[in-house]
This record gives sequence, C-alpha cells and structure tokens, in this order.
Amino acid sequence: MRKVLIVDGTHLKNVYGGVLLVATAQDPDHHHYPIAFGVADGENDESWTWFMEQLKLAITDVPGLVFLSDRNRSLIKAVRLVLPEAEHGYCIWHLSQNVKGHVHNNKDTFAFKFRECAYAYTVAEFKYLYDAFRRKYPSAAVYLDKSVEEKKWARCYFEGDRYNVDTTNSVESFNGVIKNARMYTLLPMFDFIIAKMAEWFNKYRKKAAEVPVTVKLVPIVEDVMSIRCVQAGFLTVDELNSFFLEYSVHDADGRVYTVDMARYTCSCEQFDKDKYPCVHAVAAATFMTSKAGKEVHLSEYCSKYYLVEQWALAYHRTIYPVPHMSDWVVPEEVRAKKILPPDFEVKKGKPQQTRFPSVGESRGRGKRGRGGGRGSGRGRARGTGRARGEGLAAYLCGSGSSSGV
Ligand SMILES: [Zn+2]
Repeated sequence: MRKVLIVDGTHLKNVYGGVLLVATAQDPDHHHYPIAFGVADGENDESWTWFMEQLKLAITDVPGLVFLSDRNRSLIKAVRLVLPEAEHGYCIWHLSQNVKGHVHNNKDTFAFKFRECAYAYTVAEFKYLYDAFRRKYPSAAVYLDKSVEEKKWARCYFEGDRYNVDTTNSVESFNGVIKNARMYTLLPMFDFIIAKMAEWFNKYRKKAAEVPVTVKLVPIVEDVMSIRCVQAGFLTVDELNSFFLEYSVHDADGRVYTVDMARYTCSCEQFDKDKYPCVHAVAAATFMTSKAGKEVHLSEYCSKYYLVEQWALAYHRTIYPVPHMSDWVVPEEVRAKKILPPDFEVKKGKPQQTRFPSVGESRGRGKRGRGGGRGSGRGRARGTGRARGEGLAAYLCGSGSSSGV
C-alpha cells in the first residue's frame, strides 16, 4: 500500500456529539482503504495527539510515511509531535477553495488556475505557471505566501513520496458512505463501518483475483499504460547510453525529454513522482524491446505498489464483525471500571447534516443565511473524488480528553 495517509475529522450526529477521526490510505486502484478510525470529543490538540499515538501503534512501517490533510492546526501539531519523520502535505482542492475568497470574479477559473500550479511536476513548469498566477491574482498570492509554504502544496516541491494523491477526496467519500451511521450511537456506528469494510474487502479481494495472470498491473494503471503505449508510438527515441539505459525522447510538443531507465526518471518528472512510466519512459521501454533487443515489461518500471499481487495482498485477510456483547469475555479489571457518558446538552431543532468548514475555508451563507450563514458546506467536494470504496486495518475508540467516548 502506498504510504500516504489521508486524515480528517467529521462531526457525529448522535446525542453526545463528538468527532470521528479517520486515517485512510488509497489502494493502488484508487479505492479508499481506511487504516484507523476513532472517536474523540472534538478536533483539538489532545484528541489528534491521542489519535496519532494510537495510529502509531497500529502501523509499524513508518519510514516514508506521508500525511495529507485539510490543514487543521491541531492535526498538524500532532503529526509533528508523534510522527516527526513523516511529511505532511495539504489537500490541493481545499486550498483552492480557501484562496477563492481573495478574488471577486471567475472564482472557478481562479481555483482551476491554482490547482494547475499545484499539479506542476517540474520546478520550471511551476514557476512559469505561478508567475502568471501571481500577476493575475496578486492578493491571493500574498495570502498563500503568508499562510502556507509552497512545499506543502506544490507537487514539485513536496519532500516525500505522495504519488498522485493530492486531495483528501477519499476521506470525504468515506464520510459520505457513513453519513447516516454518524447519527447512531457509537457501537452501532462502529458495527456499520466494520460491516462496510468487510463488504469492500470481499469485493476487491474478488476483483484482484479476477485479473488474468498475464496482467501484472492494477486495472487503473494498466489502462493508463495502454493509452501511453499508443501515444508513445508517435514519439522518436534516440539512444544516449546503452549501458546506463539513457534515452532522449522527442515529444509531440516539440520538447526533448531525457529518460533514465536505470534510475526510473524522466526530465518531465512524472515517472519520478507518480512511480510508473510517463509516455517518454514507455517510448524508451518500447525502443529497448524493439530496437535494442531487450525484453522489458512496463510493470518492471512501476512501483511494487501498483502490482496486482500487492493489491491482492492488501485484501488477503478477512474483516470479521464484532461478536454480540453477550459473547464478550470482559476482563474483571475492565468490568470494575465505571465509565460514564460525557456531559451533553440536548440540542434544539434538527441536527446539522452538513459538514463544518475546514481551516481557511469560507463559511458562506448557506441555506441558513438569514441566521448568520453558519456551516453551509457549499462549494465542497462531496465524495466525488476518484477513491471508490474500501478496507480496514484497525479501529480505535477513545478520547484525547475526558469527555470522549
Ligand atoms: Zn517523461
């Protein structure tokens, strides 16, 4: 599994309130793959630190870990404190919504232009796009300069392996799936989540098994490679060094790219960052097979995480439902503890169904505009990202502070 964890908190709608904190990965075929979830009283320093400490117990393979979030301040602190080696990037989609408040017209074009800068693979491409962005939207650029470092959002400067995961859409999608379950009390909510995980594990375990043995790559990457093989047929390749496997590839855009098949790099930097061959690398691999007589398969140039066998391994184990309470054998010392529910007030009116805005996000007027426009959640991703459903490694339940579960 690619070591990119998308982390977010979502408010519960039961009588006690609280938040569900979730850390999810994305499987190589872009299905979300929850790693841990827990309940706390709110998104504060104590609760996020507690969650990160529990997460650290659940994951052992920490080197190279990357977090992606919507810039919650407590979450940023907790990652820095508990997993200081990890890199922490910010969701590009959220940031594009944050900076929208600094323009008055064509907000969607503006957000698109910002994301275009963020997605640039090379520093040269980024500088070209961002200089133009800065000239056109100076106040937004000033806001960005003041509030967030470029290396936290610009793909070309990010110091870690983020692959092509740039947004927190998959956790938003997960929150969408459990939307109704957030109104339940804790145990039924956990049962619902676990049942969903079991369903997803079963589904993708079967899907991975159905892939023909001759196909080495997960469906989504296999499709990309098929398209790139056709495109690569139109490119011209010059061999630069047959021993070091370096090639010069003439693209249709008139530019020349240098591909190093031994180091898995290309000067366009897609090969380096996405961890599977760009069209130039596909052209070089084709050249190696047809002209230089080396039999190569593109899967040899992809990260192991994109191989079907790794994908299948992620769903190898079964997720079982938690047995009924009557079947539990509770240790005496646990039974002796008196655990009371947290203090709560019965809220008047219909419970809020929409999400709370994240850091820097405009609250807007929303449907309750006359009452002060709180918590409308407009203009927000609603689970329409590329992540498509799926998996669990561990779940947590507790609280960073006294009034948790
Ligand atoms: Zn390339």
